[in-house]
Amino acid sequence: MGRDADIVVVGGGITGVAAARALAQGGRAVLLLEQFELGHDRGSSHGGSRIFRLAYPDAHYVRLAQGAREGWRELEAECGETLIVTAGALDFGPIALEHARALASCGVRYELLDGRDVSMRWPIDADPGEPVLYQPDGGTTLADRAHAAFAAAARQSGAEILENTPVTEIELGPGVVRVHTAREEIVARAVVVAAGAWAQALLAPLRIELAVVPTRETVTYFDLPGALELPTVVDDAVPDARAHGLRRPGLINYALPAPGIGLKCGLHHAGPPANPDERGEPDEAVVRWASTWVARRFPEVDPSPVGAETCLYTSTADESFVLERHGRVVVASACSGHGFKFAPLLGRTIAAMARDAAG
Ligand SMILES: Cc1cc2nc3c(=O)[nH]c(=O)nc-3n(C[C@H](O)[C@H](O)[C@H](O)COP(=O)(O)OP(=O)(O)OC[C@H]3O[C@@H](n4cnc5c(N)ncnc54)[C@H](O)[C@@H]3O)c2cc1C
Repeated sequence: MGRDADIVVVGGGITGVAAARALAQGGRAVLLLEQFELGHDRGSSHGGSRIFRLAYPDAHYVRLAQGAREGWRELEAECGETLIVTAGALDFGPIALEHARALASCGVRYELLDGRDVSMRWPIDADPGEPVLYQPDGGTTLADRAHAAFAAAARQSGAEILENTPVTEIELGPGVVRVHTAREEIVARAVVVAAGAWAQALLAPLRIELAVVPTRETVTYFDLPGALELPTVVDDAVPDARAHGLRRPGLINYALPAPGIGLKCGLHHAGPPANPDERGEPDEAVVRWASTWVARRFPEVDPSPVGAETCLYTSTADESFVLERHGRVVVASACSGHGFKFAPLLGRTIAAMARDAAG
């Protein structure tokens, strides 16, 4: 059995649904294929929240985040829901000063605080003299709602989404791409591969090399009523890995509200390389460290975890994204642990690349 499609999107994580919406709204017939159910917890896009921040050390990313924020506003207007809770974002340590420089160069408002000011304004502990950046336009993206909003908008504009439909092979033909599933062969004018940690394996037979490393990261949850009103926190005081039994020291600690639970905490880039087809367990050492860090920064939070789960990063060496066109194949690997916030912008960019690829 077979059928034709204009553009096929492989992968229904946040990148795939954002691309499908942008393509469908641009009038293209789009078919999205997801190997599991939408919203599943085996990739990178599940869960209730992600940090939204404009603060980056590099002005280029600040501008991208500004562009993405406009895109989130459009999606909020379209679906009639709040998708970003703007309660602010705090950065602790030397990165606060780096971020402040980049924000200043882009005209983004921020305050540089002393640790003492922080403890007076929020139930968050900081040392006197410790530099802290407060960025009022930061906050928490309601991730599962955002994912559902993109998928609904894509469907509303005519995109077809097939769940539980793994793509087994992508084959290049003269002037077309053949996308194979267990049930059928789809002949398309272009394909977008937004397959997260699975993309390398799908692309290798096409001789498209993707220089990314999938890792399994652990996030830990703590009870905290009313957490949605708190700013997100990024703290570059990372642990001594050996002293805490960690495989990798990580790059930063982070915390953000987790709707319906309380506080979600993680240690950025502390997880080991992972096979996405294996089901992984949270790393106990990372969970223990999260408790230690929460006790230090959030004195009012009970540091006994109420839950933990894993989530996959798919990272390039410099944490940039991969957005590439190889003839009729567009590759979008948009994670590196910080890609969610850019989804509206990435969706539009990928759609433009796919339109070019389709000819
Ligand atoms: C612990 C953690 C914390 C994070 N924190 C933040 C944050 O605070 N702020 C932020 O902006 N970003 C954050 N991120 C990053 C963000 O979540 C990712 O950038 C984003 O979710 C990546 O989405 P994706 O669609 O590219 O990948 P995925 O969500 O993994 O989607 C890929 C999809 O492709 C499907 N697929 C794969 N192979 C096939 C196939 N052969 N056929 C059909 N379907 C297939 C998979 O099942 C999957 O659903 C975090 C990520 C993690 C893991």
